[in-house]
Amino acid sequence: MSEKNKKNAWLSYDADQVKQVMEFAEGYCRFISDNKTERECVTSVIAKAESLGYRDMKTLDSVKAGDKVYYNMMGKALALFLVGSKPLADGMKILGAHIDSPRLDLKQNPLYEDTDIALLDTHYYGGVKKYQWVAQPMAIHGVVAKTDGTLVHVVIGEDPADPVVGISDLLIHLAADQLQKKASVVIEGEDLNVTVATIPLEGEEKNAVKANVLAILKERYGVEEEDFASAELEIVPAGKARSYGLDRSMIIGYGQDDRVCAYTSAEALFDIEKTDRTAVCLLVDKEEIGSVGATGMHSRFFENCVAELMMMMGDYSELKVRKALQNSHMLSSDVSAAFDPNYAGVFEKKNAAYFGKGLVFNKYTGSRGKSGSNDANPEYYAKIRKALDTHNVAYQTAELGKVDQGGGGTIAYIMANYGMNVIDSGVAVQNMHAPWEVTSKADVYEAYLGYMAFLAEM
Ligand code: MN
Ligand code: MN
Repeated sequence: MSEKNKKNAWLSYDADQVKQVMEFAEGYCRFISDNKTERECVTSVIAKAESLGYRDMKTLDSVKAGDKVYYNMMGKALALFLVGSKPLADGMKILGAHIDSPRLDLKQNPLYEDTDIALLDTHYYGGVKKYQWVAQPMAIHGVVAKTDGTLVHVVIGEDPADPVVGISDLLIHLAADQLQKKASVVIEGEDLNVTVATIPLEGEEKNAVKANVLAILKERYGVEEEDFASAELEIVPAGKARSYGLDRSMIIGYGQDDRVCAYTSAEALFDIEKTDRTAVCLLVDKEEIGSVGATGMHSRFFENCVAELMMMMGDYSELKVRKALQNSHMLSSDVSAAFDPNYAGVFEKKNAAYFGKGLVFNKYTGSRGKSGSNDANPEYYAKIRKALDTHNVAYQTAELGKVDQGGGGTIAYIMANYGMNVIDSGVAVQNMHAPWEVTSKADVYEAYLGYMAFLAEM
């Protein structure tokens, strides 16, 4: 057990360390405030990687030990490699996390008008309590792909000078019937329509407000109504992440699931200069909807990428690729449920994650009899415990709630299919999947330290 584990992590810090924790949190807050979609995360991580000497694998002919390279998968998933002195077939040490977060996606035919109000129809992405997403300022982030080959980037609602949009809720005065409904249907999926305009375009007889919206889009972005068909536009909470609590010990922000693990994993990789076994940070998309699609963890892109890297190092064989994957060690990082005194009944106190207790490990996840879980090997977890103790990292072990209370999945079981050692780890979050999620600054910092310890020792 590390010294820090004997008490709340905050009590283990001296004044300098508290300053480091707070400064690290500031960098993290900037990251999640500026990057609210998977694409924005990939672009931003690549920019930092390039400033540190990482190069795009697609532009290189060969790669050697000591090189820093990355593979950008369709702008929505990313693998960063610090190539080690040992052969790839000896295995890698992989820090994995996902960069997609719950949100409301625009439908492909979203824009319509009703009673002089223009609205955008959405289909929610990931598991959301729909009633949480109404009556608050929202921003529009994403891209519109045009038939001429250009990609228009859209961010509306983040600059203080920007307008925001939002979804209306029924006034309490008329909500007697609504309030009798079950929480799951108080706001239904088809009711998540975003109000975007109310001024009619002069001279238009029919749908003049919608016509005005189209005129604005044409003027500002050069997009037409039919371009929505090939767009990925995401409605997310508007505004920045900030300190939470009178003691500033926590962070409230959108999309901390799972950008808190993505940011800390990438920062840990960026802070090491050399390694024996190749160190990897793998940031993937689509976890919230089952890790599907070309940019989700079920895609073969990472395996292909390892094969390509081997080829570029002049040491490729099909068997070696399989060995590289099977011999790897991975921390599959995703957020855990932080114990919440307001809802104590769903937690089992001995096996819950707490704010201020550090990086969380879930030996297994799953639900109803550990179904769907990657259940990590105890021998592997023991090695990780040793690494964390050696580097004095605060960490804790938890399950997601009481037995049969629910459960959840991550990308761990998918990587385990290669036969590699992988364990779920991450940061405890309150309000998970709500528009504004909460983490502890100490836990965010300990996650970063934990990932550094993993890269140093495994
Ligand atoms: Mn997650
Ligand atoms: Mn999630």
